[in-house]
Amino acid sequence: MNDQGTGRSQDAKFDQTYDVVVIGSGAGGMTAALCAKAQGLSAIVLEKADSYGGTSAVSGGGIWIPCNDQIPGLGGTDSYAEALTYMNYLTAGEVPAARIEAYLRNAPEMVRFLAQRFGVKFAAVKRYPDYFPDKPGGKPGYRTMEPGEFDLASLGALLNQQREAYKSTLLMGRVAMNQVEAHTLFTRGPGWIWLMIKMMAKYWLDFGWRRQSTRDRRGTLGQALVGSLRRALQEQDIPLQLSTGLESLIEDNGRVVGVNLSRNGQRLRIAARRGVVLACGGFESNQQMRDQYLPKPTNSAWTAAPPINHGDGIRAGIALGADLKFMDLTWGTPTMTMPGATSASGLFVERGLPGCVMVNQLGQRFVNEAAPYTEVVYAIQADQAKTGKAVPCWLIFDADYRRKYPMGPMLPGSIQPDSKLPKEWLDSVYYRAESLEALAVKIGVDVHGLNQSVADIAAFSKSGTDTQFGKGNTVFDRYYSDPTCKPNTCLAPIAKAPFYAVRVQPGELGTKGGLVTDEHARVVRADGSRIEGLYAVGNCSAAVMGRTYAGPGATLGPAMTFAYIAARSLAQPQSEPAVQKLDVLSAA
Ligand SMILES: Cc1cc2nc3c(=O)[nH]c(=O)nc-3n(C[C@H](O)[C@H](O)[C@H](O)COP(=O)(O)OP(=O)(O)OC[C@H]3O[C@@H](n4cnc5c(N)ncnc54)[C@H](O)[C@@H]3O)c2cc1C
Repeated sequence: MNDQGTGRSQDAKFDQTYDVVVIGSGAGGMTAALCAKAQGLSAIVLEKADSYGGTSAVSGGGIWIPCNDQIPGLGGTDSYAEALTYMNYLTAGEVPAARIEAYLRNAPEMVRFLAQRFGVKFAAVKRYPDYFPDKPGGKPGYRTMEPGEFDLASLGALLNQQREAYKSTLLMGRVAMNQVEAHTLFTRGPGWIWLMIKMMAKYWLDFGWRRQSTRDRRGTLGQALVGSLRRALQEQDIPLQLSTGLESLIEDNGRVVGVNLSRNGQRLRIAARRGVVLACGGFESNQQMRDQYLPKPTNSAWTAAPPINHGDGIRAGIALGADLKFMDLTWGTPTMTMPGATSASGLFVERGLPGCVMVNQLGQRFVNEAAPYTEVVYAIQADQAKTGKAVPCWLIFDADYRRKYPMGPMLPGSIQPDSKLPKEWLDSVYYRAESLEALAVKIGVDVHGLNQSVADIAAFSKSGTDTQFGKGNTVFDRYYSDPTCKPNTCLAPIAKAPFYAVRVQPGELGTKGGLVTDEHARVVRADGSRIEGLYAVGNCSAAVMGRTYAGPGATLGPAMTFAYIAARSLAQPQSEPAVQKLDVLSAA
C-alpha cells in the first residue's frame, strides 16, 4: 500500500492506492478531497465526464448555512436554537436528529474552514429569505451565502476543463452576474439599467482576456464555487482525473477497499485505504430509475441539471445492501424545454413577477405561482393526481409582462423583442395570440377556465390580496417581484394583448433520494449497520432536508457540509461524536 499518497500502488491487485477515493467532482466531491488532505490523508477525485464541476458548476452556487452567528463578521443573527426549530418543523420527524444536529453544527465550520485553509470564500446574501420565512424558526435573510467573486483566468489551462455556465445564467448569454446583481436586474430594482451597462462594459472592455476566451473571467455563482475549489485542489496537489467513471465498489470482508473504474474503455482499479466517498450525484438523467422511483409522468428531458448523473453511485451502494430513502423525491423546479438543448430551463424567478398566472389544462389555477419551486412541483404533481390535467401546465402572461421581465430564455422584450427571438421558438418555446381565447385554443387550454383565472388575478391585483393561494403574502414570495407594482408587488392584471404562454413541466435541479447515511456521512444498511469504508454526500445520499427545501442553497450547503464531516470521520474512523471539531479548525 502507498503511504505517501503518490497514487502508486504496492498492492498488485490495484493500479493506484490512496487513502480516500472520491467519486464525482461537484462541490461535494471536491470539498471532501480538500478536507481529507487537510487531515493528512492522500486523496484523488475521479470524474466520469470530460469536464469537472458537475451540476454544481451550472448552479447558482448558493449554500444554505444556518447558525451563521458562528461566522465572525457576517452580520447574521441566526442561532442554533432557531435553526433547529426550523429544520425540525420542515423535516417533520423524517430525518434522524443526529444528522440534523451534525449539519447545523458543522455548516458554519465548513465555511470558515474552506475560507481560512484554502481561500474559498463566501458572502451572505443578506436579503435572500428562507423558502418558508413565516414558519417556526424561518428567517428573512442571511442564511444563504454565495461564493465570492473568483478570477477564472487564475485557473489557467484548467479553465477549459471546467463545465461551462448555462447561457441563461449569464447576462446576454455572456456576462457573469452574482445573486445580488441578478436580483436587481430581474426585479428592475433601483439602478438596474446603470448596473447592466456597467457589467456589460466591464466584460467587453476586457480586451486582453477577450482575445483568449469568450468566457467571462469574472467567476460568479457555480463557476466561482467550483473554480475556487478546483484551484485549491491544484494548490494541494490533489489529482482530479476526468473521463474516469465508477463501475462498482470493491468489498473485502464487508469493508469497501476500492473501486472498479472505466477510463476510455480501459478497466482501472484504485484502492482506498480509508474509504470511498460517493459524490456522483442523483439519478435525474436515468429514465429507467425515474420510471421506477419518481411520480408519473416523469421524463429525463425535464431536468434542469446537465445530463450527467445516472444514479451510478446509488446503484453501487444498492449492490452492497445499502438502505435507500426519499427515492420518490426531487429538488423540484418547474422547467420549460428548449429545442436542441441538453437541459431544460428552470423557472426560478418568473413566477413571482406580476402579470402572470399558472394554470392547468382546465385553465384553473392550482398553486401560488410565487411559492418555492419545489412546492410548485409538488402542487403540479398533486393537481395531476387529482385532475390528470396538470402535466404540462402553462404560465400565461401579457404584453406588459413580456416587455418588462424575463421568461425562461427570453430576456425582457424591451431588450430582446419577439422579432429578435429565434423564429423557430414561436409555437415551440413560447406561444402568442392577440386574445386570451385564441391563446387558449392554440395551447389546448379550456377557454372558460382561463378567462376565470385571469379575472381572478385582475381582482386580486386590485385588492392586493390573493384570497385563493396567497400570492405575495410572504417575504419569500416578494423576493422576486416588482417593488414598483402596487398594492401587491407579485400581482398585476393580465390585460394587454398580445398574450403569451410557455409550457411548464414538473422538472428538477436534481433528485434528492439516495443512500441512507448516518451523521458521519457513512452509508448504512436497512438494519442500521454501517458499510465500513463507504461514505455518500450530495444527491447520491438521502437528503438531510427530507421532503422539503429549507432555503436557497439547501442542496449544496448539506453536500459540502457532509463532505467536510466525512473527511473528519475518514481521518478518525473510530471517533463517534459528529460534532467535534477538526484539529485544523480549532487552531484557526
Ligand atoms: C440551474 C441550477 C441552479 C442551481 N442552483 C443551486 C443553488 O444555487 N444552490 C444549491 O444548493 N443548489 C443549486 N442547484 C442544485 C445543485 O446544483 C445540485 O443539487 C448539486 O450540484 C448536486 O451536487 P452533487 O455533488 O450531488 O452532484 P454534481 O454537482 O452533479 O456532481 C456529481 C458529479 O459526479 C459525476 N459522476 C456521475 N456519475 C459518475 C461516475 N459513475 N463516476 C464518476 N463520476 C460520476 C458527474 O459527472 C458530476 O460531475 C442548482 C441546480 C441547477 C440545475
